[in-house]
Amino acid sequence: MEIRLFKPSIGKEELENIKDTFDTAWMGLGPKVSEFEREWTKYIGSATSVAVNSGTAALHLALAAFGFKPGAKVLVTGLTFVASATCILYNRLDPVFVDVDYETLSMSLTDMERKVTKDCVAIIVVHFAGHPAPMDKIMDFARTYKLKVIEDCAHCAGGEYLGKKLGTWSDIGCFSFEEKKAMTTGDGGMIVSHDPDLIEPLRARRWVGIDKDTWKRVAGYTKTGGADPRHWYYEVADLGYKYNMNDLAAAIGLAQLKKLDQMNCNKARLIGAYLEGIRELACVQPLLPYNLEKSSYWIFGIRCPDRDKFILHLKRSNIATGVHYLPLQQHPLFSQYHYDTPIIDEVWPSILTLPLFADMTMIELNYVVESLKQCAQNDMV
Ligand SMILES: *Cc1c(COP(=O)(O)O)cnc(C)c1O
Repeated sequence: MEIRLFKPSIGKEELENIKDTFDTAWMGLGPKVSEFEREWTKYIGSATSVAVNSGTAALHLALAAFGFKPGAKVLVTGLTFVASATCILYNRLDPVFVDVDYETLSMSLTDMERKVTKDCVAIIVVHFAGHPAPMDKIMDFARTYKLKVIEDCAHCAGGEYLGKKLGTWSDIGCFSFEEKKAMTTGDGGMIVSHDPDLIEPLRARRWVGIDKDTWKRVAGYTKTGGADPRHWYYEVADLGYKYNMNDLAAAIGLAQLKKLDQMNCNKARLIGAYLEGIRELACVQPLLPYNLEKSSYWIFGIRCPDRDKFILHLKRSNIATGVHYLPLQQHPLFSQYHYDTPIIDEVWPSILTLPLFADMTMIELNYVVESLKQCAQNDMV
């Protein structure tokens, strides 16, 4: 047996949607992207959505939407994927690395209170591993200090907090459809907001700054366009990027979205089985206080003091593992920033990510649990 860490759940529905796209032979930014945006808006409950080609692009554009002055500061957790913070650098802003809460590993409000200054303009909240950050409290904090808030929902597509979808609590929500995430379009991302004025300008910015979608102009190129010789005309006013989603990706996304709740539900069931399986292992604790109701967890992980021993043991059983994440401040890219994050420093050497994906079988899961048990037992003799 060989067990991957993550695996997309894709099949004939996705293939059929792709076939549609082949039949129309329109693969770039086109009607499927618009359809996917409409469906996503409906599903999430935002006012509007803008589809892009990655979660990283979503974060870059989302932060750009506010037009902050270069040099301003943005609060971000120190334990996340680099893209949560590189978007700050893309916008010539400075990250302020915030420590995490010991239990949930999401941004610590206490530490945020400590680190916020008058130079801070925004917070990037990551729902770490899919565990919802306390958005009610974070939004209160943001109002007090007049900060804008972006939710990085790369780990939690479809998840809720207090009955409200993650990504809709703040000014802008950003999603990733990278192949390892809760649902995938190969690569892709989505920007959502309850304020269309804030993110509608991003539609041009994801398309090199062109304020008209080519596919909407294309009809005008031929007879149906009538006698307008300037059907080709557009102008660029805004510095844009080539960040658009394409129809091939959107076709996959439309099929994946229909399965998203079921995939999240499967993972909740698998996490329940993992928790049961490791309950008696004294040297292994669950990574998080998993709350499986209406959840959208991306990571099932454990905390174990002798992490390398577990990694090597599982590797010998052909079981993939991961570490999410090396603290951001340990990357050379961020070496010029110095913020104390004692809880991250204490916790991160013990965290280990185990295989979890919607189509994982109980046979596979039990095989992982058995391997963990063997490793823990070897410890005692
Ligand atoms: C995956 C991820 C991203 C970036 O998403 P891509 O689609 O891979 O660009 C951003 N933030 C977090 C927390 C992620 O895990």
